[in-house]
This record gives sequence, structure tokens and C-alpha cells, in this order.
Amino acid sequence: MKVDVGARTDVGRVREGNEDSYLVQDPIFVVADGMGGHLAGEVASQTAVKVIADMARSEAPEGDGALASYIKKANREIYDLAAADPEKSGMGTTCTLVHLDGSTAHLAHVGDSRAYLLRDGQLSQLTEDHTLVERMVREGRIRREEAAHHPQRSVITRALGIDDDVEVDEIDIEVVDGDRLLICSDGLSSMLSTDAIASVLQSGRDAQRTADVLIEEANTAGGEDNITVVVLDIGKTPALMASAASAREDTSPSYDDDYNPRSHWVKKTVLGLAVLGLVIGGGYLALRTVLTNSYYVGLDDTGRVAIFQGRPEEVMGMTFREVESTTDISVDELEDFRRDNLEEGIKTESLAEAEDIVAEIQRQVDEQREAEQRALEREDGGGGKG
Ligand code: MG
Repeated sequence: MKVDVGARTDVGRVREGNEDSYLVQDPIFVVADGMGGHLAGEVASQTAVKVIADMARSEAPEGDGALASYIKKANREIYDLAAADPEKSGMGTTCTLVHLDGSTAHLAHVGDSRAYLLRDGQLSQLTEDHTLVERMVREGRIRREEAAHHPQRSVITRALGIDDDVEVDEIDIEVVDGDRLLICSDGLSSMLSTDAIASVLQSGRDAQRTADVLIEEANTAGGEDNITVVVLDIGKTPALMASAASAREDTSPSYDDDYNPRSHWVKKTVLGLAVLGLVIGGGYLALRTVLTNSYYVGLDDTGRVAIFQGRPEEVMGMTFREVESTTDISVDELEDFRRDNLEEGIKTESLAEAEDIVAEIQRQVDEQREAEQRALEREDGGGGKG
């Protein structure tokens, strides 16, 4: 079936860089929304898109699981890149992929980017968000209306690059002439209500103009995140235009001014499942308890080896750490690899384990100090003989 494509990505009005990526390689279309410091998010989303593009070029996707295997391959690549470079540690990306295959659209999806279908003036979300708040809604813990305002709304529960394998949702739908598909990052869906998105989609513009207007509207609403949209018009475009034109009469193109879920933008984070269970189960205090019951070995403010209670990294934008005990070992006495490990923080399961690590470092440093002492004494001895 013929497809008309419109696509665009935009940095938005708040962020400094654009960590979203997209792919238009008919019949494959992808939106990926990266996360991670030092531009790592950009690397993650670009890697996802590149791996999928390469795989699709070398072999057309065929059969069940083909798209999932693309995403799993991309996941593995990002995971390996992150493991090889501390600057990229923890980077990840969402990935929503559409493959148009005759009258079937195959979808594969991880994260909180979305795919929507507009048919007969009705907009439906095809993908399920892999987010903490979506899970809470499904479990009946919060109402759907609360999700958009929830403080943890940017926490995603699945992403590429976080683990060596990833679970991929696969969805197949039959498409018909006049269907319009939208793939977008959360920079669109968090700024515009579903009604506002539907209104733009059925305003009778062609695919590219529709993509442009969606981005304009998200920016008008605040543009608090990177925005990426891919619009796919299936089949005979004139049919779509005709139905869209008639639909326009009863749907106002203005969007809901009250809908502004984000009072300030929140950086996307992915949460490990262990922590996730706790946040759902017991909230912030439980999270805090768990984090402050963990330990790590790192460097204190004066550059000395120390044991900390808490976590070396930020968790959901918060820090939980406190010095438990310090040593007299200076960072200058350590070998390079140790120094790197300690700068990052060596996480342990218990205080005893942290103490064991410090004891081992202490033993090595003591040996080194003794060796240096002996070398000094030899020098002194040599001078005496002359
Ligand atoms: Mg985003």
C-alpha cells in the first residue's frame, strides 16, 4: 500500500540538545528518545536507529519476532557501548518501530514513545507506555487523570541499553485506505492532550505539514522536551484528505489551554525493577530506606578512600549518601583502575563487604608504602657505603 510520510524532530524550548532520533526508511519507521548525561542519550537513540536501519537494509523483516530481534540487537549494541565507556554508563533509549507490510502494520515497542492510529476521526493509542505511572494506573493505585501530573511521570520501566536483554511489545494491526499513523516521542504526548493531537491530525493537512504543526503546537504549549513526530498516511491520500476535510468541521483545531501537565520539565529516568517495586509499594520513604541501607566505597571531599552509606549515583534526581567512615589513603596512592572505580563508587551489598574492600585496598597500599620505604633505605644505605 502506498504511504505518504511526514517527519520532523525539534529540540523544543527548554533542552539544550536533542536526544531524540527517528528513521524514515520505507517500509520501516522508528522514533527513539534517548536519555543519559554527556550527550549519551543522543548516542543511544542514534545507535538504535542505525542498527535497525542496517538490519532492515540487509534483510527485510519477516515472520513473528523479526522486529523484536532488530530491537534486541540495538539493545545489545547500546548496552555494550555503555559498558565500555563510563561517560555513557546508564544511557538508554525508547524505541517505537512501525513496519508497513501490505495491509498489515507491524509494531514493536519499548518505553514511553507512542504510536497512534487515526481512523474515521477517532484517535487510538496503539502502544502501552512502559512507565511507572502507567503501571500505577493499571493497578488502580492512581487515576488516569493523575498520571499526567504525577511527580514520577518521567520514570520509565523499560528501555534499550539498560540490560543485556530487553522485553519488546509486538502489535500487529490491519490498516485500510485513509488510515493515518503517528509515531511520536513523549515531548509531543506530554505537552498536548490526546484531543489536541487528534485535532491536528484530522485538520486536512498533508503528512509533512501535519508533522510541522504538531511540533509548533507542542512548542506553543511549552516545548519542555525534545519533540519528534513521524506521520504515515496509508493508501490513497485524496481519500484521507476528503474524510479529514469533513471531520474538520466538527472538531475545533484549537487545543485545550488547561492541558499543561508539566509545571517544569523532568529528565527521563529508567528505574530498576527492584526499586520500582518499592516505589509502588511504599513510596519515597521506602525508597529512601533502601538506598540509605546500601553502601559503597568511594572518595570523600578531600580525595581519601571512604565508605559511604547510600548510593553514588542520583536516583530519580535525588542523592542519598553520607560518609560512614574514612581512611588515610589518598587517591594519589592508588593505581589508575582503582582510582576510576572509586571515582564512580564501588557498590556493595553490606557494610561488611565495603569494609572488606577497604581492607584489601589498605593491604595493597601498605605493601606499596613498605616497598617505597625499603627503596628509600637502600638509597640511604648506598650513600653510606661511598
Ligand atoms: Mg522525551
